[in-house]
Amino acid sequence: MAQIIDGKKISAEIKEELKEQVAQLKKDGIEGTLAVIQVGDDPASSVYVRNKKKACEYIGIGSKSYELPETTTQTELLDLIADLNQDDAVNGILVQLPVPAHIDEKTIINAISPAKDVDGFHPESVGALTIGQKGFVSCTPAGIIELLKRSNVEIDGKNCVIIGRSNIVGKPMALLMLRENATVTITHSHTQNLKEICSRADILIAAVGKKEFITGEYIKENAVVIDVGIHRDENNKLSGDVKYDEAEPKASMITPVPGGVGPMTIAMLMHNCVEAMIR
Ligand code: NAD
Repeated sequence: MAQIIDGKKISAEIKEELKEQVAQLKKDGIEGTLAVIQVGDDPASSVYVRNKKKACEYIGIGSKSYELPETTTQTELLDLIADLNQDDAVNGILVQLPVPAHIDEKTIINAISPAKDVDGFHPESVGALTIGQKGFVSCTPAGIIELLKRSNVEIDGKNCVIIGRSNIVGKPMALLMLRENATVTITHSHTQNLKEICSRADILIAAVGKKEFITGEYIKENAVVIDVGIHRDENNKLSGDVKYDEAEPKASMITPVPGGVGPMTIAMLMHNCVEAMIR
């Protein structure tokens, strides 16, 4: 039976540590504020934004919320970002993605000052990660590293296979595992022999975005399995990219969905906000 990697518990520990750190920073006269911008009223985005604001409140930093109508132009959004870049009271800026189709996501990401890029999506942040310099790291992959380290998973020298090469999960995940001295394989929709490659992984990270795509056959005996996927069915029940019932008996450790990677993303966003305060 696999040991469950409890993301709820680990994320709560991180938020507790950050709360103490923020209290200390406040004693030293350093305040933090995260600006959260949402364009349109996509219900899933509204839930994420609400949770991010709640997390700020919990650890003791301020949040400024900008709920803009769907009709907001790209220029209006860029003007707001420019103002927030200049605002010394704001340390972190986050634009909830996706933005409406008439706004170019890349242009928006590039407009955020790298010093306030708490999502870690700016090319400068990604470049810093690539060459091992200090910078903000994308929250979901950073959260996975915390899950592994705090569960005492040895990464150094291990075979790590990542399924997915997106800019927000797969690619930064690969760079972080490389930083931790894993031997990293990135797989994607054009990969051949996926099953065979995955079944050699000591650490398998599934960010494929397809419900229960990773069945037991993909998993090596005693592998550590990290499931990044989030899929909600018509009854609001969550499942991941991994077929849990088949993976769990083979794995030595596994993240559940919900309660695995999911809660870590916001915890690491808060970590980045505190980093921004310190800087
Ligand atoms: P994405 O759609 O941008 O990327 C999916 C990746 O999977 C692509 O790189 C693609 O090449 C690869 N892929 C698709 N089909 C494949 C196949 N048959 N074989 C091998 N590779 C294949 O998705 P994403 O943004 O990286 O997110 C991945 C999943 O993680 C989604 O389910 C998403 O909802 C979830 N997610 C969760 C969190 C969290 O906080 N837990 C954060 C971000 C994303």
